Amino acid sequence: MTSVDSSKHKKARALKPTSRRPAKELCSECGLCDTYYIHYVKEACAFINQQIGELEEQTHKRSRHLDNPDELYFGVHQDMMAARKQQPIEGAQWTGIVSSLAIEMLNRGLVEGVVCVQNTKEDRFQPMPIIARTPEEILAARVNKPTLSPNLSILEQVEQSGMKRLLVIGVGCQIQALRAVEKQLGLEKLYVLGTPCVDNVTRAGLQKFLETTSRSPETVVHYEFMQDFRVHFKHEDGSTETVPFFGLKTNKLKDVFAPSCMSCFDYVNSLADLVVGYMGAPFGWQWIVVRNDIGKEMLDLVKDQLDTQPVMSQGNRKEAVQQSIPAYDQAVTLPMWAAKLMGVVIERIGPKGLEYARFSIDSHFTRNYLYVKRNYPEKLEAHVPEYAKRIVGQYKLPE
Ligand code: FAD
Ligand code: SF4
Repeated sequence: MTSVDSSKHKKARALKPTSRRPAKELCSECGLCDTYYIHYVKEACAFINQQIGELEEQTHKRSRHLDNPDELYFGVHQDMMAARKQQPIEGAQWTGIVSSLAIEMLNRGLVEGVVCVQNTKEDRFQPMPIIARTPEEILAARVNKPTLSPNLSILEQVEQSGMKRLLVIGVGCQIQALRAVEKQLGLEKLYVLGTPCVDNVTRAGLQKFLETTSRSPETVVHYEFMQDFRVHFKHEDGSTETVPFFGLKTNKLKDVFAPSCMSCFDYVNSLADLVVGYMGAPFGWQWIVVRNDIGKEMLDLVKDQLDTQPVMSQGNRKEAVQQSIPAYDQAVTLPMWAAKLMGVVIERIGPKGLEYARFSIDSHFTRNYLYVKRNYPEKLEAHVPEYAKRIVGQYKLPE
């Protein structure tokens, strides 16, 4: 089933939002169930009904070509590039391509509102989804809130506002549910600007991650797992702290990531029109995937604000991925000197550009495949998309 049955829509509107979460512990708090669209949850929820192939057909008019190695990994696309803003936006996660695009679409009247995530006054990491109607409100949503965010909780407001042209910014699980109910929203035009997403956490999980990993958890304003195999923390005073991936306290962090993220196979946001991340680009650059004509139309709006270069790929990830599977499984943590050394070596000879992106996808898909197999064996066959089965099938997995 590609999208929900419209005859249910009237009944859905009559329903009051509830705090029910039919996906139970696998719920990623995407927000759908905070609205009367909860009525569609059994078909729309990414963790109850995996239907990426069908929704790719609905959105891009075809599903990905599994025999094309780039589409197998990165999904349906017509173009990929590395890019960065000539004048970066201060305080953005990277150079602010996402915020710039949203502002441009609003200023040119292509959309009346933008779904994005600000933070609450009390807590810089507590997500607060909004429909932004001014450039200032979009700018106030810049930078990642690295926690599960109920972006779709504003869907009722969209309908009530009478808005007809909308841009939604979101991560894969939010966008899968959005695509499934898209036809029920009464919109004339929907644009979807996606970011890749992996290893997300609840607010409590984030606190544990910061406390086990950073030297000063309370002053962290921003962090990212970077292409140089280090976590980069930025602190309030502008200083940067780096911690090698291989030095992370895996034994303490094993249960930090949300079960939804441990069972997700849509790292690259397959159903967005345009994706802006970093992992397929050289260090310091952002990575852009144009999935369809709508995505191209969006990117063209800001092209004159960007420096761009073709994507590149270097190195061979396969051995590093194979070795990381049992290491993660057994929660091995290296002493910091060894972790630093390994980080330096792998940075020099390790995978770069698209090969780094494949490294990250392979490592997460093998880990997540094992997680689903062990914890939800009855879901494994239907929940893991065909492309992910092929990717995981390249490696030898423990039982
Ligand atoms: P900005 O201009 O700073 O805008 C950031 C936008 O992100 C804002 O519009 C805001 O509404 C939105 N946002 C913030 N928090 C959330 C949230 N929790 N859920 C949904 N939307 C949110 N890229 C990779 O290549 N690999 C990754 O592994 C990866 N993991 C990510 C994990 C998370 C939780 C998020 C939100 C993003 C991730 N990204 C990843 C994307 C990357 O970190 C940048 O967000 C992206 O490159 C855009 O940078 P920017 O400077 O253009 O964004
Ligand atoms: Fe509902 Fe979204 Fe949670 Fe699924 S992930 S149960 S759709 S809130």
